[in-house]
Amino acid sequence: MKISAKTKICMIVGDPVEHSLSPLMHNAGYEALDIDDQFVFTAAKVKPKDLKDVIKAVRAMNIRGLTCTIPHKIRVMKYLDEIDETAKKIVAVNTVVNNNGKLKGYNTDWLGVVKPLEKYGSLKGKKAAIIGAGGAAHAMVFGLLKKGASVVIFNRTLEKAWHLIKTLKIKNGRSVSLVSCYDLSHIQGVEDCDIILNATSLGMGKNVNKTPVPKKYLKKDHIVFDAVYVPYETRLLKEAKEKGARIIHGTEMLLYQGIVQFELYTGKKAPVKVMREILVESYKLPASTAGRRVTS
Ligand code: NAP
Repeated sequence: MKISAKTKICMIVGDPVEHSLSPLMHNAGYEALDIDDQFVFTAAKVKPKDLKDVIKAVRAMNIRGLTCTIPHKIRVMKYLDEIDETAKKIVAVNTVVNNNGKLKGYNTDWLGVVKPLEKYGSLKGKKAAIIGAGGAAHAMVFGLLKKGASVVIFNRTLEKAWHLIKTLKIKNGRSVSLVSCYDLSHIQGVEDCDIILNATSLGMGKNVNKTPVPKKYLKKDHIVFDAVYVPYETRLLKEAKEKGARIIHGTEMLLYQGIVQFELYTGKKAPVKVMREILVESYKLPASTAGRRVTS
């Protein structure tokens, strides 16, 4: 045990949080860089009504990094001293860095979308189909527009897709012509897209055998990215692979939002390979010991 009175604390707060993979991933990174005497990463279940007190404690106890997950990403913003410009545009903070009592909020979720995709080349001029219009879809739409792609949103509830578009248009000052939206009865529209991203819960839990895109619409030219990370490989990804498409697992989104966070908290380059390995290894553990429900 290398933890001492000098060790800096980082932690994730959310509700639920017991199954978060962030402590596993960050602590593996500290160990790999031999800085596990300097940093430790833990988790706390925090109810929305207690968030204000938690932020006070972060200042009082000089906690170095605070990762915020559901339901705190928006609410936390009002308690911070400064918010990064991108997080302001997304209107959500998932990362808080404490520099000697000054708390600054960032959003790394959108990088969790963009970084794995950019391994396959520039996103500029690409056409992306995003299925879903909730929190994960919000990060996807923002990231893809920022990188010069156009976006077609498909959502069960069309009004929610319109709401997302309106928010981003106002916040980003972008032309709405780069974004369009349809309900799921138009899902065949994915055929014309370069990239397909699932941001619904289809493919997990009680919907584990479901897919948001019928296999007949998947092609070998597609890049298919599923935000769902339990199971490791969803039906959508399996069927996309069978069609010869390139696939990106939900764990990559989890990994890359965490990588950027790690670097903000420690000031050191994250050991991506080690952090990915521990995430993938965690699927071999019983569900009670590894993260299975929350998103970061
Ligand atoms: P959310 O805000 O609750 O949004 C859920 C979305 O799924 C909505 O668009 C909803 O459509 C749609 N949906 C739910 N049930 C559906 C069904 N039966 N048929 C069709 N559409 C359905 O959730 P979220 O936070 O965006 O999360 C979405 C998924 O992404 C979850 O699986 C989550 O685990 C995953 N996620 C992964 C990461 C990662 O790091 N890999 C990060 C964040 C989220 P309506 O608008 O019609 O309700």
